[in-house]
Amino acid sequence: MLNMFNLEGKVAIVTGCNTGLGQGMALALVKAGAKVVGVNRSNPDETAALIKEANGEFVNVMADVADSNTPNCVLSEAINQFGRVDILINNAGIIRRNDAIDFTEKDWDEVMDVNLKSVFFLSQAFAKQVIKQGSYGNIVNIASMLSYQGGIRVPSYTASKSGILGLTRLLANEWAKDGINVNAIAPGYMATNNTEALRNDESRSAEILGRIPAGRWGEADDVAGPVVFLSSDASRYVNGYTLAVDGGWLAR
Ligand code: NAD
Repeated sequence: MLNMFNLEGKVAIVTGCNTGLGQGMALALVKAGAKVVGVNRSNPDETAALIKEANGEFVNVMADVADSNTPNCVLSEAINQFGRVDILINNAGIIRRNDAIDFTEKDWDEVMDVNLKSVFFLSQAFAKQVIKQGSYGNIVNIASMLSYQGGIRVPSYTASKSGILGLTRLLANEWAKDGINVNAIAPGYMATNNTEALRNDESRSAEILGRIPAGRWGEADDVAGPVVFLSSDASRYVNGYTLAVDGGWLAR
């Protein structure tokens, strides 16, 4: 039974894995047997060291996911280094906070480009390669509680993450016939850089914690099992679904 979760011989691309959830997911995939190609705009030395410690293989492509040349660079580097691709984790993401009334075009465009546009075009390049290989492929997008809820003071983030939920469904519909499963993970409130401002705001932090049935902020380790499941043969008949990993937040 556990063989279904085994990722040995598979190659996974993980965007934004120098820290946070991306780092946790890259390490989880390595521990399940995969080789990892990181896509980072910041130095991923810490991740490389953790993967080495786990006896895994890791190469990094230094790139901004919002750059339109990145998908081709990433795919050709993955093929040069490891000869194939099997898994794509679209994790890189940014957030900008401001009242909707004052929100700038720059904060709108930058977030949409990183969180949504880049996910589409990297997925497209990945799918072309998987179809060429004639193999199975698994794409896991990183959504958010704001794929389901409105949030406040984060208009471009909410728009991008709500878009991720829809895009996950559309790509699943088109590519299931090609053996490519497209799903998403919607993390709840996780203790990473992304939520530092929230956690530093005492009243918002207490409000959030009070609503999480599990009674704690999530950690990168909490997405390890879900990402291995959605990257493996164990989820072969799961298509277009966004799985909340939220300590029960949405159940409230
Ligand atoms: P984080 O800020 O620690 O990590 C974000 C990662 O994305 C970093 O590695 C960063 O370098 C990378 N990145 C950002 N812009 C990039 C670009 N243009 N090119 C390449 N890499 C880029 O935050 P995190 O919490 O680990 O976030 C990971 C993902 O999880 C994001 O998509 C985020 O929106 C999502 N998420 C986080 C939470 C949370 O509570 N922390 C909740 C829901 C969703």
